[in-house]
Amino acid sequence: MVSSLASVWQEIAALFMSIIMSFGSLFGVFAPSDTKNPENFVDSEIKNVIFLIGDGMGFNHLEKTKQEHNISLTMDTFDIRGASMTRSLTNAVTDSAAGGTALSTGERTYNGGIGVYMFDPLCEFSYPKNITELCAERGMMTGVITTDETSGATPASFSAHAADRGDTMDITNDQMASDIDIIWGLTNDVATKRAAKENGFEFITTYDQMMALEEGSRSFAQFTNNLWTLEQSDENTPTLEQMTAKAIDLLDDTDEGFFLMVEGAHIDKHSHSNDDASMTEAVEEFDRTIQLALEYAKNDGETLVVVTADHETGAIVLNADGTYSFTSGSHSDANVPVLVYGSSKVINAGKILNNYEIPIRIAYVLGFTEEQFPYEVMVDSAA
Ligand SMILES: [Zn+2]
Repeated sequence: MVSSLASVWQEIAALFMSIIMSFGSLFGVFAPSDTKNPENFVDSEIKNVIFLIGDGMGFNHLEKTKQEHNISLTMDTFDIRGASMTRSLTNAVTDSAAGGTALSTGERTYNGGIGVYMFDPLCEFSYPKNITELCAERGMMTGVITTDETSGATPASFSAHAADRGDTMDITNDQMASDIDIIWGLTNDVATKRAAKENGFEFITTYDQMMALEEGSRSFAQFTNNLWTLEQSDENTPTLEQMTAKAIDLLDDTDEGFFLMVEGAHIDKHSHSNDDASMTEAVEEFDRTIQLALEYAKNDGETLVVVTADHETGAIVLNADGTYSFTSGSHSDANVPVLVYGSSKVINAGKILNNYEIPIRIAYVLGFTEEQFPYEVMVDSAA
């Protein structure tokens, strides 16, 4: 009784703070004393961003995969590595909607909310801009790709604003009306060829159609095979690696640079079902995709690669015998990895950020100002 009363008060306090902080950022007041100047984060070498999100991927997902497959991971080769605290505004344990919103807009929201403030879920007064919109407004090319449905919580957070993650029609309408160049993922049976065409997208459903896309085109993919369980490419449906390679190829076309969000969604799904074999395969698939992004960045020299997760799923623990096991079928409050290549401005090695600080720092690295992405940058906490 006492603890539930305390948690109600905590939630009321969190809501009150959210309202104060949201209005604070709108009007540029209530700046915290440890705010750093955004100009300190600018990295003029960086033109492109590849932001990879392993849904549900905690530190122990990597350890379990390496141990059970007896392999090393590209994710272990990043020199700049820290962690992210994943809570939402309302809950210590976030869902992918609030987690995605923190990573896309720099604002924490309630579980279920997609790119909206808690005090205005229907966007009647305002909503926090996401980093994809910000980059598109600047003339950068943008892409959002996933192995989930295109309207899944993570891709939706980077391309839409909706009161609830289940508002598939709202999310799809926002995506269709957006300036994003590439939106690819599994079909949700709501996004139609007609709507895509009306909004200037080529509508594609197969690997061959994806590979035939040319630079300068905009495309909306509704792949029909089940990307959740797909391990190998076939002629109809691409893998995450194939989507990522083609997306980079299409986006790397302007002097303004590009922003690409890539979600590996299988890790979360297979962690909910505590399916060791499929989960570790999903981590491997995500790692191969990261390898591809990293190779591109190393050649290109102007690309920032950031890898993180929206939350941990399955509460994987290290056992006394040295093995790793799932201890839950739900999300946990564990911190998740933040891995960076290309700029030391996103996180200091060994430090812990709040999830919402990650997109703010990415935006500031790209030279966006506080007026354009008006949120505070906090000093790193000690690991
Ligand atoms: Zn989940």
